[in-house]
Amino acid sequence: MSQRFDLHVHTNWSDGKSSAEDMILAAIAAGLDTVGISDHSHTVYDEPGCTLPDSALEYRAEIRRLAEKYSGKIRVLCGVEQDYFSGRAVGFDYAIGSVHAVCVNGCYVNTDWESSAVRGVKEHFGGDWYAFAAAYYELVGGVVDVTGADIVGHFDVITVYNGDGKYFDTCDPRYISAWRAAADKLLSTGAVFEINTGAVSRGYRKTPYPARDIYDYIRARGGRFILASDAHRPEHIAFGFRDWDDTESRLR
Ligand SMILES: [Zn+2]
Ligand SMILES: [Zn+2]
Repeated sequence: MSQRFDLHVHTNWSDGKSSAEDMILAAIAAGLDTVGISDHSHTVYDEPGCTLPDSALEYRAEIRRLAEKYSGKIRVLCGVEQDYFSGRAVGFDYAIGSVHAVCVNGCYVNTDWESSAVRGVKEHFGGDWYAFAAAYYELVGGVVDVTGADIVGHFDVITVYNGDGKYFDTCDPRYISAWRAAADKLLSTGAVFEINTGAVSRGYRKTPYPARDIYDYIRARGGRFILASDAHRPEHIAFGFRDWDDTESRLR
């Protein structure tokens, strides 16, 4: 039985392509019993329009109105994808804590955007991708403490543009020790980890975040996972949830 909830959903309150109402209608059509809207928190480094306004009051009021309107059909939660640099999430039903940038020498280097990362690694890390990865995972390890999040968003999003090891080798001991330290810290918080299918629906990756070895490591230490679509358009709600069920039952 596929998971019947999706808590990682973006709308045009941040960088999603559709209204919150259209995303809720898509969630109903997909047969979900709960949908969480989780737009991006306000950050100083993002372009206007990509994140919520500094005060998310109107966003919260709109999601509450829609929750009431569709209460007979689906449970709607008002969440947020809280960026590491946005501080603590307050006033939402839940928060997903995510790292989208590292800050070095006063500059923000996006970790999920290839051209920014390539330039940042060259300018601020002397071309050393493992130092960049270490800086990223240092923040990931602290994301629950800093944001108060319930869910850890796309743990290894730094691999989004690294298909076939284009920039770094995920088997390198420096890379492995960086993510393991982050995973150990997060495991001690009791937060839930995502199996995030967002990069698969958008064609950037063939498998969800996190990579299989990371997933196995966290699972073996008692970490809990939920499926999350990171949908930015209606057709991507609950994307790949059924495929994941199939994969898991084959592995069992
Ligand atoms: Zn994100
Ligand atoms: Zn997201």
